[in-house]
Amino acid sequence: MKKDKHGNSCNKLLPVNIFTLAAVKFDYNKSITFAEKLYGSNGIYFDIRQQLCLALTETQQTKLAVIDGQCKWDQNNAEQDDLFELVKGRVGAGISIFIVGGINTDGKTTLAGCAGHSPSKPAAVVSATGTMYTLAHELGHVLLTSTFSPVHETSNSNIMVNGTHNIPADSFPTFNATQIKQILKSTHLKDC
Ligand SMILES: [Zn+2]
Repeated sequence: MKKDKHGNSCNKLLPVNIFTLAAVKFDYNKSITFAEKLYGSNGIYFDIRQQLCLALTETQQTKLAVIDGQCKWDQNNAEQDDLFELVKGRVGAGISIFIVGGINTDGKTTLAGCAGHSPSKPAAVVSATGTMYTLAHELGHVLLTSTFSPVHETSNSNIMVNGTHNIPADSFPTFNATQIKQILKSTHLKDC
């Protein structure tokens, strides 16, 4: 049976494409290792298809420095179109993760991440000002889908806690059994 580098057996594959558009303020390598271990410990192989740092033109940088659309589920928005336009022809199978400089929903509220996406374009946006847990958390939302409840947990030992900045550094927050059961039903997971 296929195993990942942390020794976890592969029951399902989670294909992801990671596009970085901004200088990341959290520890990127730790965030990837954490996601590999978290999903891997549940038999889900964190399958990174590509990791691209995108060089933006000055105009693109100004436009996309901070994503300021509303974080809404199941619908497309102009900024997501802009993000996908940047990686046109490069997005293969799997979920696209865009790391952006910031996420601002209404001029005041900033978010560490947003998992709202158009149904036909699975994606999550992670803020460069998020934490090493934000990427795994936003992917969790995509896999759990918009109808899963509760959206967030109150315990900071659960990766789906409300606010990944509440998770202590270098801890290992997990999914609970109900969350995993739902995640394993995700159509984004492929066979190993
Ligand atoms: Zn969340």
